[in-house]
Amino acid sequence: MEEKIKCLILGSGPAGYTAAIYAARADLKPVVFQGLQPGGQLTITSEVENFPGFADGITGPEMMELLKKQAERFGTDVRWGIATEVDLSKRPFKVIIDGDKTFLAETLIIATGASARWLGIESEKRFNGFGVSACATCDGFFYRGLDVAVVGGGDTACEEASYLSKLCKKVYLVHRRDELRASKAMQNRILKTKNIEVLWSHIPKEIVGDKNVDGFIVHDIKGNKDVKIDVQGVFIAIGHKPNSDIFKGQLNLDENGYILTKPGTTQTNIEGVFAAGDVQDHVFRQAVTAAGTGCMAAIEAERFLSDQE
Ligand code: NDP
Repeated sequence: MEEKIKCLILGSGPAGYTAAIYAARADLKPVVFQGLQPGGQLTITSEVENFPGFADGITGPEMMELLKKQAERFGTDVRWGIATEVDLSKRPFKVIIDGDKTFLAETLIIATGASARWLGIESEKRFNGFGVSACATCDGFFYRGLDVAVVGGGDTACEEASYLSKLCKKVYLVHRRDELRASKAMQNRILKTKNIEVLWSHIPKEIVGDKNVDGFIVHDIKGNKDVKIDVQGVFIAIGHKPNSDIFKGQLNLDENGYILTKPGTTQTNIEGVFAAGDVQDHVFRQAVTAAGTGCMAAIEAERFLSDQE
C-alpha cells in the first residue's frame, strides 16, 4: 500500500529534526525516517560545546534526543527506516523505505548527512571517543596542551591541523604522499605554522594505548620503517562522503556527490525537493548550520505547497 505524506524528511540529524520542528509547526504533518544512523553524526561525538544555548555543553546523543522530543512535541511522526530508492521524476515523489514500503511525498526534504571516511583499521574503532575523532571543531578542546596527529592531506586535514595547532602543543600531519592535495593557501598556512610537523609519505598503521590513545604507529615509506609518534589524539580527516547515492542521476550533485542547491536556498534542481545539512554542505559541516538549513528547507517546503494551492 502506498502512504501519502505532505512533507517527508529523510535523516534525523540536526538538519532533519529542525526541518521537522518547523514543518510540524506549519501543519505539514512531517514524517521523519531516521536513516542508517538515527540522530546522525552527533551521536558519535562526545561533548557538544559550540551549539548556542547550551551554556554548559551537552553530549551529542543527549542533544539529538532533545531535538527528537522537540520535533515529536509538535506532532512529527518519527519512524525507523532507510530510504532505498526514490523516483523524483514527478510529484508526488515516490520514496521506497527499506526496500518494500512505498511513500508518496508532496514535498521531500533530504537531510541524509555525510559520513566521515575512516581508515578501516581495528584500533581506530576501538579508540573512537577515547582519543580518535573525525572532527577537530567538536573534540579539539579536549586535547588542549597535548600532542595530536591529523591524518590526511586535503583541505579538511589542513583545516583540522590548523585549528588544533592553536590548542595543542604539537600537531603531526600524517600524509601518505610527498605533496598535499589541499589548496595552495592552505598549504602555506600549514607549512608556516611552527607547531605543525608534516610527516610526508607516512602511512597510518596502528593506534596504540591502554584505555586512551598514547601513540600512533606510522610507516615511513622512504625510510622503509615503522615509527611511533607519541600523541594523545588522532584525528582522521581523509574526507567525507555525502549520503546521496540514491539521488544520483535525478538530482544535480557536485563532483564529490554533494547535492547542489540554489545559492541562498535549499532548493534542488527539482521543485518540491529540498536539501539541508551536510548532504549539501562540505564547507561548514556544523550542527548549527545544519539546523539553520533544516529550518530553511521546511519554510521553503511550506511556501512551495502554498503556491501550489
Ligand atoms: P579530499 O578528498 O580532498 O582529501 C582526502 C585526503 O585524505 C587526501 O589527501 C588523501 O590522500 C587522504 N586519504 C584518503 N584516503 C586515505 C587513506 N586511506 N589513508 C591515508 N590518507 C588517505 O577530502 P577533504 O575532506 O579534505 O576535502 C573534500 C572537498 O571539500 C575538497 O574539494 C576540498 O577542497 C573541500 N573543502 C574545502 C574547504 C575550504 O574551502 N575551506 C575545507 C574542507 C574541504 P591523497 O592526497 O594521497 O589522495
